[in-house]
Amino acid sequence: MKISELLKQKEVTISCELFPPKKGSGLAKAHEVVREMAKLKPAYMSVTYGASGGISEHTVDIANEVQNVNGITALAHLTCASSGRDKIQEVLAQLQEKKIENILALRGDIPANLDFPLPNQYHHASELIEEIKAFGDFCIGGACYPEGHPEAESIEKDIDNLKRKVEAGCAFLTTQMFFDNDILYNFLYRALKKNIEVPVIAGIMPITNASQMTQIASLSGGSILPRRFRAMVERFADNPAALKQAGIAYATDQIIDLIANGVTHVHIYAMNKPDVAGAIFDNLSEIYHAE
Ligand code: FAD
Repeated sequence: MKISELLKQKEVTISCELFPPKKGSGLAKAHEVVREMAKLKPAYMSVTYGASGGISEHTVDIANEVQNVNGITALAHLTCASSGRDKIQEVLAQLQEKKIENILALRGDIPANLDFPLPNQYHHASELIEEIKAFGDFCIGGACYPEGHPEAESIEKDIDNLKRKVEAGCAFLTTQMFFDNDILYNFLYRALKKNIEVPVIAGIMPITNASQMTQIASLSGGSILPRRFRAMVERFADNPAALKQAGIAYATDQIIDLIANGVTHVHIYAMNKPDVAGAIFDNLSEIYHAE
């Protein structure tokens, strides 16, 4: 099913993100993760594409496993900055063949060639969106950044660019992770002022080990993390079991506040950890009904 339809049909949705293995040897383990995650019956599962914008050999395979083996709608990520048009067309044909109709269209990180973009390279996700639209009948989503994309001159300029991206053909947006819901509420207000009216799916990352902090620091563009969040990580950094429990509770708390305030579509950055996603689903068992 197209995610745009799914978001209309269900008032509250909770979805999960997976990443494919780097090497083919990890495929069996990845399939097991898909199976375990599918038992939670998330509204859909997204599968990332490469790391830092690189290409990925296993995204289509894992998305196929999600949808055609385990019966959960798949959202395949696709990045374009490191790919030429031929590679993009090849992946789109594979997705079409597997009847995977949802794509999260991303630019990815800028590749190392100093003369980027070369004539056959994409500059922005919006160009990829146009290409996907021309290729076939896909439901296309895009990324958005409640604290502004790290490269953007200002939050205002970033929202102007986001508006262009939506106009290129995004049916929904998924946010970068954030740890203070007020940041998302402010962003939603600014987006609405620019008449960005597609559904925005709130991305929540449960912190379960201290090393994730480095990744967060690089993604958040140097923003200040909430005091409550920092205190939690500092207090439990040396006690992995306690940090995992606290991280699950923090993410649950964020989701409950979002749903209570009308942000009813939530995406969990589950980091291939079905136990963590499962604990959050358990905590929400009276709030979110998978069926
Ligand atoms: P764009 O929308 O192209 O924006 C990038 C920058 O360019 C922004 O600063 C924007 O303001 C600016 N911009 C956009 N359009 C224009 C324009 N027309 N003119 C001038 N400036 C413009 N990375 C991966 O490698 N694999 C993944 O699977 C992956 N999944 C992700 C999922 C989510 C939900 C998110 C939030 C990010 C994900 N990323 C992934 C990271 C993403 O690729 C990077 O954040 C990347 O730097 C930007 O991608 P984008 O699609 O947002 O780019």
